[in-house]
Amino acid sequence: MHIRTRSGGHDYEGLSYTSEVPYVVLDMLNLSEITIDVEQKEAWVQAGATIGQLYYKISEKSKTLAFPAGACPTVGVGGLFSGGGILDRKSMGEDLFWAIRGGGGASFGVITAWKLKLVSVPETLTIFSVGRTLEQNATELIHKWQYVAPNLHEDLLIAISIGPVNSSKSGEKTIQAIFISLFLGRVDQLLHLLEQSFPELSVRREDCTEVCWIQSTLFFGGYSIGESPQVLTSRNPEISSALPITRFHFKAKLDYVQESIPVSGFEGVWKLLHERETCMAEMLVVPYGGKMKEISEDALPFPHRAGNLYKIQQLAYWDESGPEASERSITWVRRLYDYMTPYVSKSPRAAYINYRDLDLGVNNAADGTSYAQASSWGLKYFKNNFEKLVRVKTMVDPGNFFRNEQSIPPKNFQATSSNLRVLNRFIRRQSPFFKLLNLMMNISQAVFPVESELEDSVCPIEPFHEEQKNSQSSF
Ligand SMILES: Cc1cc2nc3c(=O)[nH]c(=O)nc-3n(C[C@H](O)[C@H](O)[C@H](O)COP(=O)(O)OP(=O)(O)OC[C@H]3O[C@@H](n4cnc5c(N)ncnc54)[C@H](O)[C@@H]3O)c2cc1C
Repeated sequence: MHIRTRSGGHDYEGLSYTSEVPYVVLDMLNLSEITIDVEQKEAWVQAGATIGQLYYKISEKSKTLAFPAGACPTVGVGGLFSGGGILDRKSMGEDLFWAIRGGGGASFGVITAWKLKLVSVPETLTIFSVGRTLEQNATELIHKWQYVAPNLHEDLLIAISIGPVNSSKSGEKTIQAIFISLFLGRVDQLLHLLEQSFPELSVRREDCTEVCWIQSTLFFGGYSIGESPQVLTSRNPEISSALPITRFHFKAKLDYVQESIPVSGFEGVWKLLHERETCMAEMLVVPYGGKMKEISEDALPFPHRAGNLYKIQQLAYWDESGPEASERSITWVRRLYDYMTPYVSKSPRAAYINYRDLDLGVNNAADGTSYAQASSWGLKYFKNNFEKLVRVKTMVDPGNFFRNEQSIPPKNFQATSSNLRVLNRFIRRQSPFFKLLNLMMNISQAVFPVESELEDSVCPIEPFHEEQKNSQSSF
């Protein structure tokens, strides 16, 4: 039997609520309390809260404190921060504390709460979103962006959403790149920086909007900045976000780019994007550099630091139901991923666990796993940190109680080990609630409140965009 811990339920492959073998879902929904300490610049957030609820709570208390997590407000902090009861930082020890901050919580136990270090932001920030089609030099702009974006002023971020859209010529399609930006400062300074670093983008004052931090989270979450921030607190918002990822079925693949891609490389991507319906494919391109490159690869399980120019998320969307539609779209995004091979990181071809991709390999469905088997995705997600994660797993969960298709394996674990049989016999004798509690408290000793000082670098933030057709309409 598997245990599936669900916080926000946003796992890309649904691992928090699906399984091919019998399982129980431990739903953290009602553990969603958030307390903010403005003086200490700290917050306690329980694992079942969403990042939108966290943003809203912070904004209720302060206009100049923030926490940089993801763009989509319905994502849960349990999965996103992955890594909280019975054990605290002191009693769990530094190695386990390290492992759950990026190594995926589901391999190690159940996190009940995080302690966060908040960051200071100015009262006024500036955002913009400008779209450029192929006819407006998008290819050259994207090519230039590769050299500019990873080296921009540390308070400035420019990401790109690229996808097929209707052309101004009727009946024709084109590719549009939407440059989406957040600057921790006022518009005058932003325009000055852009003039120095990226004049080709030709951003005008009227493209920019000065906002407060909570409005910027609305913007990146796909809402109009005029919307009430309370919309961020809903798990099923009545006003739907413009982000396609919140509206359609999708399959995603992720790559890291370490050397600039030539124009010819992008032109091949455009051909593939042209095969998709308008707005049904997207490449989300997010720069690295900045703080990310200052942190050593082994500081936390998340290893993708210096040496990466940017990451590219490749997404296929579809809204029809049935296996044919999903198969068609999944096949397409796999072709795109194959096409990208010469242009992206190698040995390993790196990936990010929060954009889980079961194409990279899985543990055996029932219970079996091995170090060699798990290395196929483990080295891609964690590089050299995989070895340490296995050591920690072997120490805290040698019987592999906390497991799923891509969990970290304990060393020398045998699928048919007596460990599992004892656990399974124990489970059968207990009432569902009691057995869960017992398993977690007495056997695994792995329910822990985490005192975690999360930094922006722990959870690489994926800034999102307004959907193409709504681009800028809300500013
Ligand atoms: C629509 C959408 C938008 C997204 N936007 C962004 C974004 O803007 N930025 C970004 O970085 N990522 C984004 N993601 C990816 C997201 O960060 C990851 O999928 C993350 O793991 C989701 O966390 P969750 O708690 O919502 O998911 P869940 O499905 O609840 O959990 C994900 C994994 O973590 C485990 N887990 C969950 N809670 C706990 C816990 N309390 N203790 C131990 N293990 C636990 C689960 O078992 C599962 O393996 C997005 C995903 C979706 C679907």
